[in-house]
Amino acid sequence: NKYIVIKHHIEDAPKEAIFELKTGTIALSVAPGSDDIIVKNLYISIDPYQINRMKLSSSSQGTSSFAAPINPGEAIDGAVIGKVVASGNAKFQKDDLVLGVFTWAQYSLVKEGSILRKLESSEFPLSYYLGVLGFNGLSAYAGFLELCKPQKGEKVFISAAGGAVGNVVGQYAKLLGCYVVGCAGTQKKVELLKKELGFDEAFNYKEEKDLNYALKRYFPDGIDVYFDNVGGETLEAAVANMRIFGRVAVCGVISEYSSGGRKASPNMLDIVYKRISIRGFLAADFLNVFEDFLSKTSDYLRTGKLKTIEDISSGVESIPSAFVGLFKGDNIGKKVISLAEE
Ligand code: NDP
Repeated sequence: NKYIVIKHHIEDAPKEAIFELKTGTIALSVAPGSDDIIVKNLYISIDPYQINRMKLSSSSQGTSSFAAPINPGEAIDGAVIGKVVASGNAKFQKDDLVLGVFTWAQYSLVKEGSILRKLESSEFPLSYYLGVLGFNGLSAYAGFLELCKPQKGEKVFISAAGGAVGNVVGQYAKLLGCYVVGCAGTQKKVELLKKELGFDEAFNYKEEKDLNYALKRYFPDGIDVYFDNVGGETLEAAVANMRIFGRVAVCGVISEYSSGGRKASPNMLDIVYKRISIRGFLAADFLNVFEDFLSKTSDYLRTGKLKTIEDISSGVESIPSAFVGLFKGDNIGKKVISLAEE
């Protein structure tokens, strides 16, 4: 059973060299009386927040991540879709498709009490349930629609707009009739946003000398809603360009996850005078709207109103470069590792 560990904690920028591919053995049957489940992993979700679990500060201070620390030498866990190979748990049978927090491995041993749910239908490709129909989609739905309460015609700005969460936010915003501008780090992503996903405008933030100026170009009358995936100077520039009663949903601050990243220091007086609301959130806080999210988003997919952008690599061996690639902007849309055929 191949699996991935970190050799040591991440101190600065993530590098492939901190990961190690290990091989172990795993029994593909469960002992009588045990309630363990053995899962053959099919798709692994690759998510930026995991870096915060790999930092030393996450284990020593417990503050930099909402999830448990990842320690060197231990199999890393995260969102995975798999198929049950053997089960001592009456709620799960062999061949059930399941989504849960399992190891970055070919096979996982899942203990009673682990986060696990059955995937009853697979009308859509399974990988969608890690992205557009999973926590990325829910983040977009909850952070944008529930928190920011956008109105038709409002002006919306999205950072990391070519990524898993950002592209969905932009598509929801267009469906609602908003004016939508996204920024991303490559020309290819910029073209995708404008030509395929219907964004009104998009720009490459790496080519802008002054983000404040760039935002004035696209929002001469200001921004109503900013969906923040990156923090740092982009958040500062967005706050400087917000309209009165503007809303900012802080989904993540990826530019601040590496030690070199500049911490956002938005102009507080702007926030007061313009009565701007800035709200951080976790998708996990919005499980109460999960069913609504799933049914509306599934409808949008069925009717072709929403496009799915996925970036799939194969094999456990590809996990380190896929993960590190998130911080270099390599991925276009949702980064997923495919491991095996159903
Ligand atoms: P993405 O698919 O957007 O991948 C990350 C992207 O971030 C990269 O492709 C890159 O795109 C961009 N990026 C990387 N480094 C930087 C940087 N220094 N400055 C600006 N952009 C950068 O990831 P997700 O959609 O999964 O996640 C987006 C954000 O949302 C993250 O901050 C993540 O932690 C957060 N998140 C929060 C959740 C919640 O519950 N609150 C749930 C899921 C995600 P580019 O080419 O544009 O640079």
